[in-house]
Amino acid sequence: MKAISLFSGGLDSILAVKIIQEQNIEVEGVYVNLGFESNKEKINYLQNMAQKLGIKLHIIDKQKEYIEKILFNPVYGYGKNMNPCIDCHAFMIKSAKELMEKTGAKFIISGEVVGQRPMSQRLPALKSVNKLSNADGLILRPLSAKLLPPTIPEIKGWVDREKLLDISGRDRKRQLELAKKYGLEGYESPAGGCLLTDINFSKRLKDYSKNLELTPDEIDILKVGRHINYNGYKIIISRKAEENPFLKNYKGNKFIKMFTKGFPGPVGLIQTDADEDSKQKAADFMVSYTKLDKGDIIIGDKIYSGSKIDKKDIQKYIV
Ligand code: SF4
Repeated sequence: MKAISLFSGGLDSILAVKIIQEQNIEVEGVYVNLGFESNKEKINYLQNMAQKLGIKLHIIDKQKEYIEKILFNPVYGYGKNMNPCIDCHAFMIKSAKELMEKTGAKFIISGEVVGQRPMSQRLPALKSVNKLSNADGLILRPLSAKLLPPTIPEIKGWVDREKLLDISGRDRKRQLELAKKYGLEGYESPAGGCLLTDINFSKRLKDYSKNLELTPDEIDILKVGRHINYNGYKIIISRKAEENPFLKNYKGNKFIKMFTKGFPGPVGLIQTDADEDSKQKAADFMVSYTKLDKGDIIIGDKIYSGSKIDKKDIQKYIV
């Protein structure tokens, strides 16, 4: 008997694996990469944790499909920001179901806890997730199973329902006790959610998607830099050296790159179709974040002479 576990690497998903492994069921983990994770080291961390748990880990890249089908058109709407958590969970479960069918597993497990998150883990939300994912009856949530209707693996006796748990709410006391019992260490502390739950990231995403179509190429550049909207054109300028590679390595076709010519300064991007006035202004913005008052800025294959502007005057364009 084999189960596929949605594996975020958080304590709840680790405990869900442990509880099912204890019932002599083989578990394989799946991490669905949607692109909006804030932690850059995530994949390494997940691989290490999977190794510790003795599970095979599948990493599936679903960024494109997620953007096209879910992000801008969620059936159950958004949370506080641009986070479509109910649809997102259902999407991840659907992905896990595809893997379940491919690998010969018989059900899916998830570390969700009833009532833990305001939007996606209330009881009605879990029902919506089941319905939307088309995997109703196949999703076992070991941490809260006793508070939920029996699932197929419980009804068929593949899993002993009596050994499952009845945890609910935001208090993490029982999970921490279980972590101690299993000798778990080095797990991620519970995060508030992905970048879509972040107010500033959501503002940038909304501003970006007013005029431009999002593809996976642009996700990383939304995570860094100062974002400026000048005359309806988007300009992004790095704030520190560590952000430069994100902008330098941009591979899409919606932006062209901006560099200082012969003096230290930030790296920038400007919308490919920006007009001349906006490119000139972008050169001024670039110089404004250097130590010089004037300097040449390379934008695509042209050079613009930029002049420093007062930061207060730039502020009104910052997203
Ligand atoms: S926090 Fe982000 S990754 Fe998690 S369910 Fe919500 S939208 Fe999806």
